[in-house]
Amino acid sequence: DAGHEGPHHLLRTIGIIRSCYREKFGIPRQAGLTPSARAELELAGPYARAEMVRGLEQFSHLWLVFLFHDATSEGWQRTVRPPRLGGRRRLGVFATRSPHRPNHIGLSAVSLLGVECSGGGVRLKLGGVDLLDGTPVLDIKPYLPYSDLIEAATSGWTDTDSRAVPVIFTPAAASFGAAYRERTGRALLPLVEEVLRQDPRPASQRGRRTGFAMTLWDVNIRWQVTETCFLVDYCEWLEG
Ligand code: SAM
Repeated sequence: DAGHEGPHHLLRTIGIIRSCYREKFGIPRQAGLTPSARAELELAGPYARAEMVRGLEQFSHLWLVFLFHDATSEGWQRTVRPPRLGGRRRLGVFATRSPHRPNHIGLSAVSLLGVECSGGGVRLKLGGVDLLDGTPVLDIKPYLPYSDLIEAATSGWTDTDSRAVPVIFTPAAASFGAAYRERTGRALLPLVEEVLRQDPRPASQRGRRTGFAMTLWDVNIRWQVTETCFLVDYCEWLEG
């Protein structure tokens, strides 16, 4: 958008996310929708100090303020079409959680699974993330249920989606998932199931059924949509 955009403010990256989501396809639309998703937040430079996270381990959940770094080059829009509404309705960008906002700032409530301070580094183990690998984090704050949890809150236009389509694995996919868990400790199959239950197809591809592939951690997952379920055909290690 051309014209005056107001004063600039300098923000610094305090850490980088290492996530199971290596590409945007498959990432859920909000944090918490895929509890088996995992990430590590590695604090950077002067912020990689154990004292800066002292007391954080007492909290079960955190707010992360981050930059939608993979959307900044796409600019911002005054109105957007949320995928949740099938891309059919335009809403004001500030009425949505779209990445295409003026400052490209994201906000996610994630679970804190552990705090590791060793070898001069600080790493936070996170669950339920909706963040792309490589996401720069701008701030961390503890989630405070006594004030952040608003029981009377209404959920506006997001009160729509409630399909529960089953996810089925072929024997080959299931045995890959079991072997992968054995070798890496990662719960691949539960994560695939949670991701597919969100139906990751973009609005423009809701009519398509076959030939889908997505990457979770270092695994390529092939799936299709049948009349009754999401069918995971097979999983394979990514090259390299
Ligand atoms: N919970 C956050 C919020 O409300 O600000 C993110 C919501 S946004 C609708 C979620 C989508 O952002 C994901 O589906 C993914 O495609 C995208 N995304 C996640 N990390 C990103 C990044 N670093 N750069 C660009 N897009 C990203």
